[in-house]
Amino acid sequence: MQGTRVLISGASIAGPSLAFWLARYGAEVTVVELAPELRSGGQLVDVRGRAAHEVLARSGLGEAVRAATTAADGLSLVGADGRRQASTRAGDQGGNGAVVEIEILRGALSGVFYDATCADVEYVFGDRITALDEQPDGVHVAFERAQERAFDVVIGADGLHSGVRRLLFGPVALRHLGMYLSFWTAENHLGLRNWTEVYSEPGRTVGMRAIHDNNAVMAFTAFTSEAFAYDYRDLDALKTVVRCKQAGMGWEAGRMLAGLDQATDFYFDSASQVLLPAWSRGRVGLVGDAAYSASPLSGHGTTIALVGAYVLAGELARADGDHAAGLRAYEARLRPWIEQVQRFGQGNGAAMAPRTWLGILARRAVLRGLELLPAADFAMRGQVQLSNRFELPDYELLERQRR
Ligand SMILES: Cc1cc2nc3c(=O)[nH]c(=O)nc-3n(C[C@H](O)[C@H](O)[C@H](O)COP(=O)(O)OP(=O)(O)OC[C@H]3O[C@@H](n4cnc5c(N)ncnc54)[C@H](O)[C@@H]3O)c2cc1C
Repeated sequence: MQGTRVLISGASIAGPSLAFWLARYGAEVTVVELAPELRSGGQLVDVRGRAAHEVLARSGLGEAVRAATTAADGLSLVGADGRRQASTRAGDQGGNGAVVEIEILRGALSGVFYDATCADVEYVFGDRITALDEQPDGVHVAFERAQERAFDVVIGADGLHSGVRRLLFGPVALRHLGMYLSFWTAENHLGLRNWTEVYSEPGRTVGMRAIHDNNAVMAFTAFTSEAFAYDYRDLDALKTVVRCKQAGMGWEAGRMLAGLDQATDFYFDSASQVLLPAWSRGRVGLVGDAAYSASPLSGHGTTIALVGAYVLAGELARADGDHAAGLRAYEARLRPWIEQVQRFGQGNGAAMAPRTWLGILARRAVLRGLELLPAADFAMRGQVQLSNRFELPDYELLERQRR
């Protein structure tokens, strides 16, 4: 891809990892990110399944990622009195269960790919694409702040509320999965050690997960709700929503919510999916949540962003200058697996916030069953098989050709 000018919108997971592979194949890559700097924050995200592990291994960044992971030994469901009622350990279900082997803070994973690319890739922070015009000589891009420039390919890796997707296809209705989630860093007042505790009441969940060598926790909440309009950038208003929706819950919810005002890395969003008939038009394409968000309920958001970025870069390189064909080939290869992951996410809300006491008891019984009878692994088998189902293409030859 020597000399091919690629513009990527979004510097979280899909963006920097796509930049990594494209730079390896010789492309000239620019990443534009709306935030004024690389965004920190975010819950522990999972890297699941053979394909994603293989992507990390092939990148040579596996060690750096492992060094940045947060030790996560397991998870317990607790009662209102704080007693642990059922638990699962990391490594159960072959490392692909509820707690996976690679659990890493979203910001830390983003940082690994950023550090590995910032010398070869141009990063522009605090700006965004405002218009795209595809011409025979390239895609002409207007920015909010920077001068207009032309690129050979433009990719939106700008998440659930993607600006590139809007420019490409207009407003697209998200598929709301009936739940809202929030995360923020808080004091580890329970003294959790590499452990997560989760407490649920019908339609509402709160939890804490030890992070930063147990010096803090990632507090998280979930509540079920029909879709409502909100500005995902108005964090103060969203904190109020969370406080109201989770008010009166037992366990440690009161203390957790009291600390919400001090939270500097509060993240709130709906559990929603992006279901598009196509992931590209001409030489403009989408990757990660922007193209095919499966929602955090799928447990695969980061996995499919990493694998998608690898496949997209490989297919663009393989298409040898026919960028539109490369974008179509990437979609043809990846879409069948992504659709399965999305279907799984649509049915997984009850694992996060069961709607009834019966649902809460059933979830506890499943986890207890897995704890007492390892042979009861069948309850998780569908998820494990799904994580491993994608056969990663080998683009190594492209790299050798470049060298
Ligand atoms: C701050 C943050 C915290 C998160 N926390 C969690 C979490 O706790 N749990 C969880 O499951 N998932 C979380 N996510 C989502 C998770 O990272 C994604 O689901 C998944 O990893 C796929 O990543 P992505 O790169 O496709 O999208 P995202 O991670 O959503 O990244 C999109 C990036 O694009 C940028 N962006 C948005 N609009 C524009 C624009 N118009 N122009 C330029 N840049 C733009 C955003 O600032 C962001 O950096 C979080 C995302 C962010 C940004």
